[in-house]
Amino acid sequence: MGEVHEHQSTIAMLRARRIDTDPHEILRAEDIPTRRHEWTDAPLRCSDCDAVVQPVYSPPKERRPPVRPYFRRKPYRDGGNEHEAGCIFNIDERIRVISDSSADTLVRDRPRDGRPQYRLVLPEAFGPSARYESIGGGSRTVADKLTTVLNTATKIAALIEDYADRDVDPNIEWVAECRGERVPWLHFLYTPQRIFNLRSRLRPDGTDLAHPVAVIFLAQKSPRNKSPRPRSDSYRAASYALLPEPDEPHQERLYVTGKSDLIEHAFADGLGRFYIAYGMWRRSTHQFLDAPRLRLRVDHLTQVARIPDTIGSVAPTRWKDWRRTRT
Ligand SMILES: [Zn+2]
Repeated sequence: MGEVHEHQSTIAMLRARRIDTDPHEILRAEDIPTRRHEWTDAPLRCSDCDAVVQPVYSPPKERRPPVRPYFRRKPYRDGGNEHEAGCIFNIDERIRVISDSSADTLVRDRPRDGRPQYRLVLPEAFGPSARYESIGGGSRTVADKLTTVLNTATKIAALIEDYADRDVDPNIEWVAECRGERVPWLHFLYTPQRIFNLRSRLRPDGTDLAHPVAVIFLAQKSPRNKSPRPRSDSYRAASYALLPEPDEPHQERLYVTGKSDLIEHAFADGLGRFYIAYGMWRRSTHQFLDAPRLRLRVDHLTQVARIPDTIGSVAPTRWKDWRRTRT
């Protein structure tokens, strides 16, 4: 992946380290407008490693949105001066690791404006989906690919949370590609703090999504089937409480439904864990449960994947604390 290195991202850092002071002074980006002149010749380093950094500041101009001051890694003509491999600001290395295990489903684009863009390509056959349509021919290949894509999406989501938690703008644009259409990342993947956005996007009258979306949620419990009639296709569900709207006293819930053995398999790792589920989510109301819901009916096991522990602790902590991190 030498390509990644041709296209170093300019991650915006809010802290820098001045190494000619003892102890090293931690400089804040918000002080750049007033103090940058005293730092002109000072040796500044990344707050987390020894990469040389410099302050970036554009004084506010009329008719232009203000640009927040930041520190960035100083680009060297001959390369070098990279963040160290383990540094959180080494985003190119972190993306390389994700990309290497993405089976080429994560593609780097070269947009004209220079901001690095990565595109996650979703498998075609999960495309136009009637409500009860199975995935059909070639399902094995599609299924394998979908698992890889969901794992990759999860890693990207965790990466985004890592930076958000440190109030860092990684200056990367993420998009998903569904059926040849580019979909903004925030319209493709919904984390717990944004599940209500999906609910708002879907109208209660049953308006459908134009493409499948992925939702990360904490699987909490399987409510009893309150249907008075036994069903051949019995529903089990995982649920997630959504923030109620002012005129809605009930908490929204998120349900993943399907044939009971399929759901059993999909949630075999147990409840109280985060999962990602992909497909044509719908907003529905159910008279038995007396609450409007988001619902995904899954027809294939690979539409649900457990979020592995290897993504670290920052993202799950933020997802659990979704009321605080809601933006
Ligand atoms: Zn660094």
